[in-house]
Amino acid sequence: MNADQLIAARSRGVSLSGIRRIFQLAGTISDPINLSIGQPDFPPPDEACAAARDALASGANGYTMTQGAPALLERVNGWLETDLGWRASVAMDGGTGPATIITGGTSGALTLAFLCLLDAGDECVIPDPYFVSYPHLATMAGARAVRCDTYPDFRMTADRVEPLLSERTKFVLLNAPSNPCGTVLSREECGALLELCRSRGVLLISDEIYDEFCYPEGLIDAARGDESRPRCPSPARFDGAEADVLLIRGFGKTYGVTGWRLGYCAGPRAIVDEMAKMQQYTFVCAPAPLQHGAMACFEADMSEAVAEYARRRDLVLERLAPFTEVTRPAGAFYAFVKVPEHLGLSGTAFVERLVERRVLTIPGAAFSDRDTHFRVSFATKMDNLERGLAIIAGEVGRDREVER
Ligand code: PMP
Repeated sequence: MNADQLIAARSRGVSLSGIRRIFQLAGTISDPINLSIGQPDFPPPDEACAAARDALASGANGYTMTQGAPALLERVNGWLETDLGWRASVAMDGGTGPATIITGGTSGALTLAFLCLLDAGDECVIPDPYFVSYPHLATMAGARAVRCDTYPDFRMTADRVEPLLSERTKFVLLNAPSNPCGTVLSREECGALLELCRSRGVLLISDEIYDEFCYPEGLIDAARGDESRPRCPSPARFDGAEADVLLIRGFGKTYGVTGWRLGYCAGPRAIVDEMAKMQQYTFVCAPAPLQHGAMACFEADMSEAVAEYARRRDLVLERLAPFTEVTRPAGAFYAFVKVPEHLGLSGTAFVERLVERRVLTIPGAAFSDRDTHFRVSFATKMDNLERGLAIIAGEVGRDREVER
């Protein structure tokens, strides 16, 4: 048997993530200063770990319903009502309003959404720069991810999306706060994008995995049912949005539990019911004891962690902005930094130069059709960040005098 010949075109069409390549390179150097990590560096809330341990000990080790554990779904739906005013109920329960499911991470929700919505030849619109999975998920579905060029300010606005919509467009995928840029859209920009999608009969998917990581200048007034909680702008906050927005959120980044593989998805019932059906035959259900841990996450106060990330964001800007273009991240924990043109280096070449100095970042090409930037993650302790930024500043500032 020639195993190689058996591989499907679907899989061949997908290339290895540029992030993995850097991880492989990183394995060859000792004691790196790692600014490439896409997960929080704080421990998960004690109450969440205790709840997960209790669930393991008390026998919650079997399958849950494919839609999720009922008690977690209840918590999620309660939060969607407080936060957005949505009155959602569990997928496939025969209800009429928006439906909800618990998924295997945010990735699980994205995978199901792409599979349920895209036929061969269909199109979806994604931002460029994009989260690494987006184009590949479209390829796996036999469809085409049309890139919305958002350089240089990284805002996926209605004006930029409009010319990209075609007869074949099924959805527009917004990611704000964004990976890799930390961009947060304003309330008005979210509203305009929603209106555009509505007017063209296209679904708006909102990947809000970083919704809790929104820095003060990005926040809008409050959750609808909790005046004390300022929130990140979202197209899901507009009246009637539950009929037009498929909302995807996760627990992994917010609570430092990326390995728990937990997310949720809510939106138009016809779509979420279909996703639940597909989940039945693929992921089956999200990890049962960890769903119990996630219930306790809703009690946790993450504001100190977010404030710490805002301080680190400020440090990144302070150290790098004097030398090169860095769009101010208003959320998430990444900065997308331009390689100064006078250096004459691609993002990849620059990142390799940093690897020689033991600093790990990710080339922009992992997230984009362009290779002009690199991503710095500030999900790392302040002293590590300080050391890394000093080296990066030295490299981005190099040869400046000569050029003048
Ligand atoms: N969407 C975005 C924008 C992300 O950055 C990530 C993870 N880096 C995901 C989805 C997937 O997250 P999860 O671990 O919940 O599958």
